[in-house]
Amino acid sequence: MNIILLGPPGAGKGTQAGRLVEKRDMIQLSTGDMLRAAKTSGTEMGKKVAEVMDRGELVTDEIVIGLIREQLEGDKKGGFIFDGFPRTLAQADALAALLEDCGETLDAVIEMQVNDEVLVDRIVNRAKEAVAAGGTARADDNEESLKVRLMAYYKQTSPLIGYYHAKGNLTAIDGLASMEEVEASISAILG
Ligand code: ADP
Repeated sequence: MNIILLGPPGAGKGTQAGRLVEKRDMIQLSTGDMLRAAKTSGTEMGKKVAEVMDRGELVTDEIVIGLIREQLEGDKKGGFIFDGFPRTLAQADALAALLEDCGETLDAVIEMQVNDEVLVDRIVNRAKEAVAAGGTARADDNEESLKVRLMAYYKQTSPLIGYYHAKGNLTAIDGLASMEEVEASISAILG
């Protein structure tokens, strides 16, 4: 079973993906995590994307599609959870083609609905907690980048809601419910 978790920054995609990895032996494919790893490892690609990411803008389709393509080649375990990908219509089309090439299907797209105020609070808190724990906040977890990330979501990513609705595999859930309730809603969809 291969699924997409769709929703704005701070919707809780990563948290829920983590639970699915544990409970269903699925593989989490987070392009955000992959890009942050590239950033810290100092590869050419990492250097190229760092500024764009820190500003809160989207990196090019070509880069993220390349990252996903590499990951689809190995062991598929309980299936893939696409977390933070696709984020544009071009990425969605590319994903459909990649899955078809490896004989896989897209089984569900779960839209995690939340409102902007909650998102801002969650992300600001996430940044504070990281600092309080002695770490550093994500470079893009500040108010300015967050505005850009939200705008990128509404302009570039939210059209995917209509796209997957038309394809017939979209289900929306309430992302404001407790983590356990959200987990249960997802579980009900996956069966
Ligand atoms: P969040 O969902 O909290 O915004 P992510 O970890 O998913 O965070 O992504 C962080 C940043 O990485 C994005 O703001 C963007 O710059 C880049 N990024 C991640 N995934 C994609 C993607 N599929 N397409 C383009 N850029 C991406």
